[in-house]
Amino acid sequence: MMEYIKKCMCPSELSGYKVKYTQGWLDHYKHKTKEKIPNDNYWTKNIIREPLIKSFKNNCGYCGREIARYQDRKPAGQVDHFKPKSKSPQLVYKWNNYIWSCADCNKKKSEEIGFLNPCNKKQMRWLGFDGSTGKYLLKPKYKKNSNIKHRFEKTQKLTLFNTGIVTKEKKVLFNDIENSIKDLHELPEKIKSQEDEEFRNYLLEQFRKATQTLKANLGRNEKSHFFIRKRIIRYTCKKKGISIIELYFSIKRFIKFYNKSLVL
Ligand SMILES: [Zn+2]
Repeated sequence: MMEYIKKCMCPSELSGYKVKYTQGWLDHYKHKTKEKIPNDNYWTKNIIREPLIKSFKNNCGYCGREIARYQDRKPAGQVDHFKPKSKSPQLVYKWNNYIWSCADCNKKKSEEIGFLNPCNKKQMRWLGFDGSTGKYLLKPKYKKNSNIKHRFEKTQKLTLFNTGIVTKEKKVLFNDIENSIKDLHELPEKIKSQEDEEFRNYLLEQFRKATQTLKANLGRNEKSHFFIRKRIIRYTCKKKGISIIELYFSIKRFIKFYNKSLVL
């Protein structure tokens, strides 16, 4: 995504599965006393999937794209084991080992370890974002740490989080949000002082569009790159020295002022 995701509480059913089924996975992968791979894939149940979908706003934890609910009549998103079952069988039924993932990222990750974990707040602080390219970067002070660098590069290589299509989408998002914040900040004064009615109406239309863009980006519905939209808004306001709260209230005041001519 890569933005910090605070997962909701572990579904109570999981502890039952853990007690009942973990041993089979340990016997297969660790003790090698059981030849067949266990087939108790209870993480594929809705009772586990739904709270993950909710926590991740149905965005892939690695690339941030919205995941289709269904593909070919089958549920499309997957519960990724952050540490793979083959390497950490003791974590097969551990809630904090689950990441909501698109099929592409999950497949690319395969049986590897050492990725950035979107549910790890500390790790997510290592990341910066470059709006001009739509790419995540390591913040300069972490670049010299070889462990951190390794994790970043591995995630970049074996998930889609910094790949072309995803960065392109985020670049567009960044431009849209940046322009709408700029308009919302600057247009009210220009509109108030504009005496030419036609031009004033044109500016009002621009203002209305900017409001809608920001509204669409802040909405609660599931959408691609949901979490980074908030980061971009915070970042843009900070860069322009605009307080988000101040912006919000000045927009409200302005809309009230122009209530009759604006239908937002
Ligand atoms: Zn993905």
